[in-house]
Amino acid sequence: MIVSAGPTKYTPKRDKYSRSRGASQFLNLFCAKDGAHLVLYQKDGPGALRRLYLDRIFAPSPQSDWQALSNLAEVPNLTCPNCGSLIGSPMIYRSENRLAIRLNAGTFSKVRSDGTFNPLETTTETTTES
Ligand SMILES: [Zn+2]
Repeated sequence: MIVSAGPTKYTPKRDKYSRSRGASQFLNLFCAKDGAHLVLYQKDGPGALRRLYLDRIFAPSPQSDWQALSNLAEVPNLTCPNCGSLIGSPMIYRSENRLAIRLNAGTFSKVRSDGTFNPLETTTETTTES
């Protein structure tokens, strides 16, 4: 697999989940302890961020590869790549039978994103206002 070194701009997925929830936005999640980048995530609709659906994690790899998983037992914990903090644990959102990561409150911060992911800048938390 060829990994692109430059920034990639993603477009939000449109499917039955986003249609039922409303407008989508991209979020970058960072470790609350050290600011390390965790994932680029598409959140559908309003409300608090309590779980990450695997099919909405766009970057980086290997977390983005979790989109292909179909078995809960195959899903790893989400941890900080820098300090190893446990950010969330695998779960199934039963009403949609959809794999997700249940987030541990207080372990992460989030910043709105336009969907651009630059692998070279993942350790620098952006201060750009949305
Ligand atoms: Zn960390």
